[in-house]
Amino acid sequence: MKVFNTLGRKIEELVPLDRTHVRMYTCGPTVYDFAHIGNFRAYVFEDLLRRRLKHAGYRVTQVMNLTDVDDKTIRGARAAKIPLSEFTGRFKTAFFEDLKTLNIDPAERYPAATDHVPEMIALIRRLIEKGVAYRSNDGSVYFSIAKFPAYGRLSQDVVGRKAGARVAQDEYEKENVADFALWKAWDEGDGDVGWDSPWGRGRPGWHIECSAMSMKYLGESFDIHTGGVDNMFPHHENEIAQSEAATGKSFVRYWMHCAHLVVDGRKMAKSLGNFYTLRDARNRGYTGREVRYVLLSAHYRQALNFTLSALDGARASLGRLDEFRAQLREVAGGAGGGSLPDWAAKARDAFKASTENDLGISDALAAVFDMAREGHRVMNGGGLKPGEAAGVLELLDDLDRVLGVLAKPDEKPGSDVEALVRAREAARRVKNWQEADRIRNRLKSLGWEVKDAADGPKLKKR
Ligand code: AMP
Ligand code: ZN
Repeated sequence: MKVFNTLGRKIEELVPLDRTHVRMYTCGPTVYDFAHIGNFRAYVFEDLLRRRLKHAGYRVTQVMNLTDVDDKTIRGARAAKIPLSEFTGRFKTAFFEDLKTLNIDPAERYPAATDHVPEMIALIRRLIEKGVAYRSNDGSVYFSIAKFPAYGRLSQDVVGRKAGARVAQDEYEKENVADFALWKAWDEGDGDVGWDSPWGRGRPGWHIECSAMSMKYLGESFDIHTGGVDNMFPHHENEIAQSEAATGKSFVRYWMHCAHLVVDGRKMAKSLGNFYTLRDARNRGYTGREVRYVLLSAHYRQALNFTLSALDGARASLGRLDEFRAQLREVAGGAGGGSLPDWAAKARDAFKASTENDLGISDALAAVFDMAREGHRVMNGGGLKPGEAAGVLELLDDLDRVLGVLAKPDEKPGSDVEALVRAREAARRVKNWQEADRIRNRLKSLGWEVKDAADGPKLKKR
């Protein structure tokens, strides 16, 4: 596989430290609110990456952290007048539900920051002992960027290091590059949140969290570190500085960043108020599968403009694939997989070649749709043998191990499907046949056939 490495800005052959096993770390959510679709662009990209690696035969160990202590979570818990863990617990639960809705394969581990404060304290201690971190008068600890000459290697254009200047916030602009906080001394605003440390009561900064937890679970050097481009500076730059200054080893081999999901040219973000959550999309009648498809279908390094009409487009595309699969099933009957027709073998090869080249999803999807078009044509002419249809069906399912967008054959109808069936019944009762047919088609696009029997409607997976 080849991937674009932000460190060095070029496409490189992916060679894991352990030949057969890829270790990757993913910056996860700050659990102070529901994640928005922009955040999920990053998680869907990482899911595509891990699925493609597994498809290529690698074992994958992915670690995704949960940031459950920082300014935003503390502020939220205080506003809600509940303990921090109860507040963040709600959003952790919601996050895992959303991952399921989007068919994102679970990471191997989801360490929470609050469970790893001793590891962070130990790492900060190491940095102080090495002389690259220092305690300030208020009991906070800062990383001294002047002591780490390689600082700025990842983001490349870090300017004007201000010797001795400090930033206490976790997020800041490149113009303000300065010594950043590893440990933040307790203050009023923290309420009852705090841990004892050699430097007094306080809490860890955001950056140290990812260094401590990634190295704990993946080793001091590992293969891939991912996130959205906004994580590159200062977060990932600071992670490199902390980790390499402490261990003297190279921290991560391949840094991969996805471009932003944008709305009218601006990053989708909580702070800009231009965001949609997955729940918003579902309330408008869209499924997780449709959202996943939109997020997946643009190359991860290209900005992706989010619109509702893109979700409609996803519905149409997925409908074509479902249709193709239903027709293949009919032709295959009970046949076992036979030889692949040329047009299907061509799609398989094109899919493999494009996804192994830095996850070239557009060409991969084009290959799948070309296959569907050709397959329809051949089947309509009666020219596909049952064994061949079974072979194509197997191929389609195999490609979906990477894409994760096809409706699952053994799926039980979800609550949205059941609601549609009820809505259709209601329309039929008042003889609104047009509406009933519209809903039937909607169910069809979701992969369900509805048959009207004497004792009511029956659902069958297409
Ligand atoms: P946060 O909860 O803000 O730390 O973000 C979690 C993940 O979502 C990080 O990898 C961010 O880089 C990513 N992210 C945030 N906003 C966007 C966006 N609009 N498009 C793509 N990724 C994003
Ligand atoms: Zn991180």
